[in-house]
Amino acid sequence: MIVILMGAPGAGKGTQANYLKDSLGFRKISTGDILRKHIAAKSELGKKIETIVSAGHLVSDDILQEVLRQEIEGEKNANVVLDGFPRSQPQAEWLEENVDTTGVIHIDVGQEELIRRIEGRLTCEKCEAVYHVTDNPPKKEGICDRCKAKLVRRKDDVRSSILVRLDAYDKQTSPVLGFYKKKGKYFRLDGNGKPATINKDLLQLMKKLER
Ligand code: AMP
Repeated sequence: MIVILMGAPGAGKGTQANYLKDSLGFRKISTGDILRKHIAAKSELGKKIETIVSAGHLVSDDILQEVLRQEIEGEKNANVVLDGFPRSQPQAEWLEENVDTTGVIHIDVGQEELIRRIEGRLTCEKCEAVYHVTDNPPKKEGICDRCKAKLVRRKDDVRSSILVRLDAYDKQTSPVLGFYKKKGKYFRLDGNGKPATINKDLLQLMKKLER
């Protein structure tokens, strides 16, 4: 099955995608992680997109479709969780034409809580595990529990960029939820609680999607 996680920045898509990977063995495809790797490696693509990503804008649909096409090829029968794609109507239409998706899980979180979460977020520079300074601190400060690499603040997790990202979500991404509702592929997950509660609710939803 190919499950799409959608939600505003800070909603917990990465955390829940990691949970599906660790608990159910899903392959996680995070377009944000892939783009950040290109930026860190200073690849041709990385150089082209660096300023766009750090300012919080969306990268072009053509680039994202090509990135995803390469990742998803040969994965038609696997269990895959998509984190961060689609983020615009053209991306959603392209995805539905090319991939047999199972459904969208919309992690719904209030705006103030989103900002609070992003401002306290720490990300592992190696395995992309996600922590929060107060809600979900690592066992040892600054070190990833999973792979022992360094925890960093994402360059786009600063207020100026957060506001641009929330605006891009409202204008370009949230209309896509209506597209999936019309297809009967929309499932809402309340993302306001503690990660463990959300994990449990997510597993219940996954059972519905399997049917
Ligand atoms: P994320 O890690 O999902 O928050 O993504 C970080 C950044 O990568 C976004 O703010 C965008 O600049 C870029 N990005 C990731 N996925 C997409 C996408 N599907 N379409 C356009 N830009 C994207």
